[in-house]
Amino acid sequence: MSTGKLFVISGASGVGKGTVLAGVMAQRKDLEFSVSATTRPPRPSEEHGVHYYFISEEQFEEMIAKDEFVEYDRHAKASYGTPLGQMEEKLARSNVILDIEPKGAAIVRKKRPDAILIFIMPPSMEELERRLRGRGDTSEEQIALRMERAKWEMEQCGWYDYVVVNDRLENCVNDILNIIAEKAN
Ligand code: 5GP
Repeated sequence: MSTGKLFVISGASGVGKGTVLAGVMAQRKDLEFSVSATTRPPRPSEEHGVHYYFISEEQFEEMIAKDEFVEYDRHAKASYGTPLGQMEEKLARSNVILDIEPKGAAIVRKKRPDAILIFIMPPSMEELERRLRGRGDTSEEQIALRMERAKWEMEQCGWYDYVVVNDRLENCVNDILNIIAEKAN
């Protein structure tokens, strides 16, 4: 039985979701992050089991075959999925937040109609590209793929429950905290 509320955050790669989420989670100790599985390699700052479970394509396929994902998607030449068991376990004791892209969010909405979906917008496409380049650990090919993808993602924001703009970090964190305060169990 779930006792927690499920929150979904989406936003193009480079929009600053990681920083926004860290700011939100620092203020809400009752909110647990659902750690996704991915086949992409870790970035230097990322830790297995904290940011993602970094697994092989074979392991990912096996999890699909065993029906162990709430949802999964393949984009930017990698696979990403939300492990069901882990999400349920966390929901049994607390509110949970997923950081997933719109295709996954649409599946979560179908499976969990009470989930609250929040979309984070960049101030502009130019700023998004600048932030992606500023990360320094993303190749030109990945930047082009991610910008292409960002255009599509931003077209999806209309069916989210809330859209917040990450122009100033503090404002964006506060906007999300207000939504959570209103909706959390
Ligand atoms: P990144 O590689 O920059 O960490 O993430 C790329 C994109 O994958 C982001 O938009 C992020 O929200 C999305 N993502 C991360 N985990 C999952 C997941 O489990 N499922 C889906 N559908 N998307 C995910």
